[in-house]
Amino acid sequence: MFDHQSGYSGGGAKRPPFSHSLFGCPCCAEALPALLETGNIDLRRQADAFRSRPDFPIARFTAGECLLVNARVMTMDPNMSEADALLIRDGRVIRVGSAEEARSQATDDALVIDCQGRTLLPGFIEPHMHLVPIAVLHLYENVGPFRYPSVEGALQRLREVAAETALEENPDAWVVGRQFDPSLQAGPSVLTRQMLDTVSETLPVFVYNASLHLGYCNTRALEIAGITRDTPDPPGSRFERDSDGMPNGVLQGGGALGRVARHNAAMRAHDISRACLDVFAHANAVGFTTVCDQGTGLMQGAGELELYRALRDSNAMTCRFRYSLGDQRAEDWDRSSVKFGDGDSWLRAAGWKIVSDGSNQGLTGLQREPFLCADSRGIAYVEPEALKEKVATRLEQGWPVVVHANGDQAIDNVLEAFEAARAVGLDPASARCRIEHCSILHDEQIVRIRNLGLSPSFLIGHVYWWGQAFRDEIFGPEKAAKLDRAAACEAAGIRWTIHSDEPVTEMNPLRCIENAVTRTLWRDPDNLLAPDEAVPVEVAIRAMTRDAAWQCHSDHEVGSLEPGKLADFVILDADPRKVTATDIGKIRVLETWVGGVRVFQADDQEAI
Ligand SMILES: [Zn+2]
Ligand SMILES: [Zn+2]
Repeated sequence: MFDHQSGYSGGGAKRPPFSHSLFGCPCCAEALPALLETGNIDLRRQADAFRSRPDFPIARFTAGECLLVNARVMTMDPNMSEADALLIRDGRVIRVGSAEEARSQATDDALVIDCQGRTLLPGFIEPHMHLVPIAVLHLYENVGPFRYPSVEGALQRLREVAAETALEENPDAWVVGRQFDPSLQAGPSVLTRQMLDTVSETLPVFVYNASLHLGYCNTRALEIAGITRDTPDPPGSRFERDSDGMPNGVLQGGGALGRVARHNAAMRAHDISRACLDVFAHANAVGFTTVCDQGTGLMQGAGELELYRALRDSNAMTCRFRYSLGDQRAEDWDRSSVKFGDGDSWLRAAGWKIVSDGSNQGLTGLQREPFLCADSRGIAYVEPEALKEKVATRLEQGWPVVVHANGDQAIDNVLEAFEAARAVGLDPASARCRIEHCSILHDEQIVRIRNLGLSPSFLIGHVYWWGQAFRDEIFGPEKAAKLDRAAACEAAGIRWTIHSDEPVTEMNPLRCIENAVTRTLWRDPDNLLAPDEAVPVEVAIRAMTRDAAWQCHSDHEVGSLEPGKLADFVILDADPRKVTATDIGKIRVLETWVGGVRVFQADDQEAI
C-alpha cells in the first residue's frame, strides 16, 4: 500500500506512481456507508421527511407543443437519420423531419423555436453511476486531482471556500474537502494541521482522502473535537502525531475520522433528498436526461429505494432514473416485493448488480497473471461457484444481471457463470445482461461475449486518467492495450456502452465520448492507449444514447428521437462530428429538455 509517510515533496523522494487508494467503484467502498453513519443520516427517515413537505415549486419552462426548427437534428434512430425540425407535444415526439413535414402536423398553438442551426441530439444516458454516494459527496468541495493537479491548487481552492464562508451568519460552519489524492497531486504527501491552518485558523477545516479511509484536519477542528496530546488513539485507527506527541491533523482509519467529523453539525443536517435533486440538476447541465444507479442499497439497504420513491412522488425530478439492486443487500431485497420493471418512465428497476472483483488501479481487480508492480492477482469478491449460483438464481427470477468485472480472470469467471446459466436453459441475451467496466478483454473473451449475447459497459475514463499507470506500472504495454476494447466489440457486432461510474470519474457524456474517440492520456499527451480501439464519434454518441437506453431497458421510450418517444433532448453549441476530436469534451450544452420541459439552460443563453 501507499505509504503516505514517505515524505514525497515535489522532485524529492520517489512518488507513488498511481493511486492505490482510490476506490475502483463505490460498490466496494465500505467507507461510504460509514460516512452516512458519522453524520447519523438515516435515508428512510429522510425519505419520510421529504414526503411530508409541500410539493416543490419548480419554476421551469413548460411546453405544451413546440416546433423546433432550423436545427441540425441527429435522431440516433436505427438508420442514423438526420432532420432539421422536431415537433413535440405533451412531452412526446410527434414528428422529426424537414421543417415542412414537422409543420404539417403542428397546430396553431405550437410555440416555434428557431435553433439557429445548432445541433440537437437525444438526451444522453448515463448507464452506470451511484446516486446516493454522489449526493453525499457533493456536499463537500471536490479538491481532487482531476480538478487540481497540485496540492497547492487544492489548498488555494479551500482558502477561497473559507473566505466565502461567513462565520457570523453560520457559527457552526466547517470547510470540508473531498477526493484529495496525494498520489496523483503534485506536492506534499499529506495535509497536516499546519498546512490546513493556512486555509483558516478560525473555521474548522476537514479534508477526506479519495479513499475515504484517511482524512486531514486543521488545529481548530482538533480543538472542537477535544483532541489533545493526551487523547489515546481510537481502537483500530490512529491520530498521527508530531515528535512531541501532539496530533498533526492526519487521521488514519474510520475511528479517528469519526472522532473529528462527528462534530460537524452541518453534516448531520444534510438533506440527502435535496442533494439527489441537485445531482439530477447537475446531470442535466452536462446533457443527461436519464441516469442509472448501479448498486442500490449498498449504503443503507431498502431505505435507498424509499428515498428514490419519495423523489419520484415529489414530481421534482428533472432527470429520469433507473437502478440495479445491489446483490450485497440480497436479503433486504428478497424480503421486499421489488421486481424487474417496477416503476414508470421516471423511476424504474432495471437490473440486479453483482460485484465480482475489485479495481485494476486499486490492484484488487482479479487477474490471470500477477500485476507488474505487485506479487498479487487481485481479489475475487465472489468465488466462481457462488457467482454461478447468483447469476442463475437472479436470471431465473427475471432480473437482467449486471456484473462488475475489471480483471481478465474476473471476466473469465463471469463468462463461465453465464455459460452455465445458458446450459440450464436461461437466456442472458434476451435479459440484456451486462458486464460492467469489462476492462481487460482478450480476443477469445470477445467471442464468448458475442456468443452469449452479453453487453459490456466500459468506464472509459480508465483510459484517460489511469491509462499511463496501467501501461507503465500496473500491467505493462501489452496487457494495457486490452483496456476498454470498444472498437473490437463494435467489430464483433456486440452492443456496448461507456460510463463515468461517478464518483470514480465525473459524469460528463461529451468527455466520455471524447475519451472513446481519441484514447488520449492525461499525463502523457504525446501518446495514445491502443488507438486501434478508438471509435468514430457517431458510434460513441450511439453508445451514450440509443445503446445506453437499450442496456437500461428503456429504448422503447428514450435514446433516440422518433415519433412516440419521450421528448428528451439536448441542444449543443457545436456539432461533435465537426470539431477537433480533442475538443469534443469542451462543447457546451446550451439546453436540456426532459419530457418536453426545458430543465436546463446555460447561464448566458437568452431564452429562445
Ligand atoms: Zn463497479
Ligand atoms: Zn460502479
